[in-house]
Amino acid sequence: ARFVSSEHRPDEEALERALRPRRLADYIGQPAVVEQMEIFVPAARNRGEPLDHVLIFGPPGLGKTTLAHIIANEMGVSLKQTSGPVLERPGDLAALLTNLEPGDVLFIDEIHRLSSVVEEILYPAMEDYQIDIMIGEGPAARSIKLDLPPFTLVGATTRAGMLTNPLRDRFGIIQRLEFYEVDHLVHIVERSARLTQLEMDNHGAREIAARSRGTPRIANRLLRRVRDYADIKGGGQVDRSIANAALDMLKVDKRGFDHQDRRLLETLLEKFDGGPVGLDNIAAAIGESRDTIEDVLEPYLIQQGFLIRTPRGRMATRQTWEHFGYRPPERWQD
Ligand code: ADP
Repeated sequence: ARFVSSEHRPDEEALERALRPRRLADYIGQPAVVEQMEIFVPAARNRGEPLDHVLIFGPPGLGKTTLAHIIANEMGVSLKQTSGPVLERPGDLAALLTNLEPGDVLFIDEIHRLSSVVEEILYPAMEDYQIDIMIGEGPAARSIKLDLPPFTLVGATTRAGMLTNPLRDRFGIIQRLEFYEVDHLVHIVERSARLTQLEMDNHGAREIAARSRGTPRIANRLLRRVRDYADIKGGGQVDRSIANAALDMLKVDKRGFDHQDRRLLETLLEKFDGGPVGLDNIAAAIGESRDTIEDVLEPYLIQQGFLIRTPRGRMATRQTWEHFGYRPPERWQD
């Protein structure tokens, strides 16, 4: 299993729930998102209306689910959670929608993976709080309209580009989560340490934050392992040297890259001469799926300037060559 994977792991569910902030005021970082939601949420609440439908974009582990829960909490309503691939038939979605209480939040994770027949049920539900469902079969089949309580759909997706236009157009609020700055991750790590009663100084927190790939989920996961290390080797306290030693042992480097990031980048350099090379070729060379590369590995490497997407494929940058101790080829010499 990949240690710094930003993907959700079922064994971490309980801890994630415990560490999840519940109020907007405790949602650390993402200043542009917080600034807007601090207006939209109380405005809807004061009018006694459900919040407009919200679409949240961003790589795994950046706080999409957390934000959905915060919205429900701040609105004082319940949240029902499902995900795109789980909703196989229109009836699955219809059952959820007809069970909502007025004002509730319906959270659909991986909304880009809804099938088109299920997605079509959503359109009138979002627009008019109505659904059309077919009952019966063959010549006796007929469609009936059902009224739904007013509700807020919160959709989350890792892929901005994979949403259909009609679906995207039905969201009144669109939020894009960015990788977190180290300073914000320091706050997140310090908060988690406090909540789990771990003694840690600011240098220790910074060391963890800097190696977390800009991702709160990874920061919390690294914190857990650093804590184990501190319990055995550091008298239960985390400072810079304990955090450093623990993270080195976990083979997470100073950039937050783990063996899989390094494998991707090193393959790009060594087998493909730094690219450009097509996604399928890299995927085959490192034995990963395209989806994992696109959703999980690439976004951070691109954001950090270690990988670029060109019309002819993926390319390493000058930094990539230098990071791995190579002299950058001609094209990168000034
Ligand atoms: P996503 O749904 O985008 O995959 P989650 O919302 O499940 O990510 O967040 C993963 C973990 O990271 C949560 O358990 C939460 O503790 C932490 N987290 C995410 N965003 C924040 C934030 N803004 N402030 C503090 N903790 C956060």
